[in-house]
Amino acid sequence: MVRVLYLGGLGRSGTTLVERLLGELPGVCALGEVVHLWQRDVRDDERCGCGARFSGCDFWRRVGERAFGGWANVDVDRVHALRDAVERTRHIPRLASAVEAPDEVREYAGYYARVYAAAADVSGAAVVVDSSKHSALAHVLRWADGVDLRVVHVVRDARGVAYSWTKRVTRPETDGADEMTRYSPGRSALLWNAHNAAFGLLARRGVAVRRIRYEQFLADPRAELLGLAEFAGLRLAAADLPFLRPGHAELTTGHSAAGNPMRFTVGRLPLRRDDAWVRALPALQRRLVGAVCGPMLRAYGYPLAVEESR
Ligand SMILES: [Zn+2]
Repeated sequence: MVRVLYLGGLGRSGTTLVERLLGELPGVCALGEVVHLWQRDVRDDERCGCGARFSGCDFWRRVGERAFGGWANVDVDRVHALRDAVERTRHIPRLASAVEAPDEVREYAGYYARVYAAAADVSGAAVVVDSSKHSALAHVLRWADGVDLRVVHVVRDARGVAYSWTKRVTRPETDGADEMTRYSPGRSALLWNAHNAAFGLLARRGVAVRRIRYEQFLADPRAELLGLAEFAGLRLAAADLPFLRPGHAELTTGHSAAGNPMRFTVGRLPLRRDDAWVRALPALQRRLVGAVCGPMLRAYGYPLAVEESR
């Protein structure tokens, strides 16, 4: 069995930051957003977190050899066809209610299981981290053979998430040619509800799910990381976290395959919560998102009045 910590949540909720810090823990190997590995890395040869092209990264070359006898043996079209058939948000009710997984779900989950097992072997880590985020993939991975799945559900205030989705961010791995997706606040509010609810459903299906709040994670990263390590079955002490300094972390090079540009950061990473939305998100949009996401914001312990949440 390979132990997998899956970081889930709507994009722009801080999953990359959580992954980077987890990747510094002894016994942990962080893989980035494996969901994008097939297209962006195996096919398009984008850059690994270590800076090398995917095909030039020794870690991923060894993982590919162990998992598939080389990446050239992976039929990316087949992976995409399976993804389109099973890994969709609209399929979550069916995935959640299934008593037995359809063959396509098992086959699709099998590609991930092979990557996880190979990465654990190559790195020697006890736990691998996949920060793919997608709730539908988490529901698929419930059926992966040989995977001890533990899901970290990362929640961030929906208004901060909405503001982040309105900003322009370039993707450095494409040398500035491409920008990350943007959503209107109304759209991201609906996605926030749907994805967070999907992780609640996963927990009710018996999967180990631990919910963390981005804001609380940054308020006390040491305690939160030790809690996550325990959830992942690792026995760590405060002395195992020398990379945590007052107000920042010192990051080493990782091999994150895909995801937020923060995966390229080496050295000093400031650890302060991004509250720019409190001033920068227009009041009308703030109220719209607050209304759409109100019930779940309350359930997660977020105050609805902005003054209180600062
Ligand atoms: Zn690499």
